[in-house]
Amino acid sequence: MQTPTPEPEFFEQGELVGVLTTQPLDRLLDYKAPEGGCFAGAFVEVPLGPRKVLGVIWGAGRGDFDRSKIRSVIRVLEGPPMREEMRLFLGKAADYTLTPMPAMLRLATRAPGLGDPPSMRKIYRPGDGEPDRMTDARRRVLEVLQAYGGLAFTLRELSDMAGVTSSVVKGLVKQGAVREEDSPRDLPFPTLDPDLSGKDLTEDQALAAQFLRDAMQGGNYGTTLLKGVTGSGKTEVYLEAVAESLRMGRQALVLLPEIALTAEFLTRVEARFGARPAEWHSGATMTERRRIWRMVGQGGAQLVVGARSALFLPFRDLGLIIVDEEHDTSYKQEEGVFYNARDMAVLRAAICGARVVLASATPSLESWANAEAGKYGRLELTSRFGAAVLPEMRAIDMRSETMPAGTWISPTLKQAMLDRMTKGEQSLLFINRRGFAPITLCRACGQQIGCDHCDARMVEHRFLKRLMCHQCGETKPVPETCPACGVEGKLAPVGPGIERLAEEATALFPDARIAVLSSDMFGSARALKAKIEEIAEGDADVILGTQLVAKGHNFPKLTLVGVIDSDLGLQGSDLRAAERTFQLMRQVAGRAGRADRPGLALLQTFQPEHPVIQAILSGDEDGFWRAEAAERQAAGVPPYGRMAGIILSGPEVGPVFDLGNAMARNDTPLRQIGAQVFGPAPAPIARIRGRHRVRLLVKAPKGASIQDAIARWIAPLRLKGDLRLSVDIDPQSFY
Ligand code: ADP
Ligand code: ZN
Repeated sequence: MQTPTPEPEFFEQGELVGVLTTQPLDRLLDYKAPEGGCFAGAFVEVPLGPRKVLGVIWGAGRGDFDRSKIRSVIRVLEGPPMREEMRLFLGKAADYTLTPMPAMLRLATRAPGLGDPPSMRKIYRPGDGEPDRMTDARRRVLEVLQAYGGLAFTLRELSDMAGVTSSVVKGLVKQGAVREEDSPRDLPFPTLDPDLSGKDLTEDQALAAQFLRDAMQGGNYGTTLLKGVTGSGKTEVYLEAVAESLRMGRQALVLLPEIALTAEFLTRVEARFGARPAEWHSGATMTERRRIWRMVGQGGAQLVVGARSALFLPFRDLGLIIVDEEHDTSYKQEEGVFYNARDMAVLRAAICGARVVLASATPSLESWANAEAGKYGRLELTSRFGAAVLPEMRAIDMRSETMPAGTWISPTLKQAMLDRMTKGEQSLLFINRRGFAPITLCRACGQQIGCDHCDARMVEHRFLKRLMCHQCGETKPVPETCPACGVEGKLAPVGPGIERLAEEATALFPDARIAVLSSDMFGSARALKAKIEEIAEGDADVILGTQLVAKGHNFPKLTLVGVIDSDLGLQGSDLRAAERTFQLMRQVAGRAGRADRPGLALLQTFQPEHPVIQAILSGDEDGFWRAEAAERQAAGVPPYGRMAGIILSGPEVGPVFDLGNAMARNDTPLRQIGAQVFGPAPAPIARIRGRHRVRLLVKAPKGASIQDAIARWIAPLRLKGDLRLSVDIDPQSFY
């Protein structure tokens, strides 16, 4: 039931067209339509100064420019034009997020070589031969090939990644150390069969699936919040909605928060539909990206599983968007274009008449409130599938545990872990801190080692033997002497990180197989996936993980979860601190006892009486949400009010503050809508990569059009020198 599209506008050769390019210009550029004319939406190549750039025919030209100087579109690229609904979506998303259109177009064309004709191309893999002589450049090429374990690259990708010229690669081909092959590009993805039999659904699941199928049949936009405890079968249910979409000949998109999730997920999709879907994520090679981008547009991909940016793919007929783990913070992009993929999914679906399913065990307060208000439908799965029951949750009161300094596994937790080991079951220790220790302190002068470029502490990574800044990625060797006082041998790690916890666990359980899951310990997403699969098969007794493990993996033998520091998220001024802690703890606890053995979650805490810890323990979710909602309502903060962050940055702190102060003084457009501006204040991270950051916070009543007011507020500003301004509508983190 494909929605009929009106024929797009056509421009005859020589007619003036307005072209949106990916270049940072604040207007469309006029060109003459090329020989043969072109449709609105066509992807084109246009001359810009001495260069050729990618663009899209956005509509008729403005004609306010000397016509004799207007140049012609060079050529129309192969493939379907950008659909009207996509142009509408980009426009509305730009208005909502206050993002310039060229940046939106860049998001929508994040695949290389869109202009190349489809044909055969050469790809490169590791060969069997040895180079006669090893140079640095050659070694880098071989290392890249090895790091990606047999993946094929194009010549360009390989030489770019290795930082060598293509002749280095060609030289290695001659010697047999690299193999060159012909490969067709851009094949359609294998066909998925919605009618392979799925699992027999439980009554609850079947009802939910039927509801979603019926909704799909309606063919209109609508959003459903699918809430269900971890393991209740949300995935099984929404795969039935995907099946219905496929039957109707419409495309489906499943957004997942974390690439690590896809290993298990793809296998499930394959089992359900008989083939693998297209997989869009940051680890995809350029070539894969290009193929997906093209095939999605031509209908050669029925289902895409991907990270947030998959939302900007040029689907031909998108009928369904699933946002799994919809509360996950990684859906919010906080650089370049500031957008929340969950919200943009709803926007896109509303424009193209698609259904949205937001799935979560612990929905965001935003979605919870939208369901309460009747804007979203609500489906709930209340019990776990089969024998699996929700884990029992208990607090370990750390005030009454005796343990040596510099250790973090309490005797109570240790005993519980030993128990599991004797039964051949797995335990998971969760700690939300990467590296060895969060602080490196000089015991002589009290100084903590900070980053030279940011206002952040350096975190020791013993695995890498370096200190690392988690803001800017800067690393340096761990110094022998204190950089502040010069005293030698007094620098000491303070506090636990996952690597330090691993050391402690190894000492406590010398015979146990210990697996560490931290995103920075894996060279590639593939290596991480492989590790997760091994663990699922039972290849570890103790698993240590950062927040990576909180997300939907299935470890059937896991029956105990220990949360090392449950209080970590409760501190801080973030308005979502309580919500985050609640979600994270519930998610982590949801890892335990997913198969047939009951699970136990133990929360180490110094404040067992804290309301959030209490709500987690008692499992009184609705109680938690209602209390949290009431508090936010009283404060007029999201979702019961609007907020936006303005981040100003520059190399010198003075001018950044001057700009902030000037903005705060000239706030008429904001006052007109009843909004207030707070600040300027140093951003919580006041310096990143040598740039000083200052923040203004705008708070407006719920119904106010905050974007419009901010646009009018910042329009007259002329940013001098190296000053920069970005707007973050609906800020998630208060960085
Ligand atoms: P959720 O997405 O809510 O966490 P899943 O859909 O991943 O839950 O289901 C949890 C586990 O239970 C999975 O291994 C899934 O295959 C299994 N499962 C759920 N429902 C059924 C069913 N009706 N029949 C067989 N297995 C099921
Ligand atoms: Zn730094």
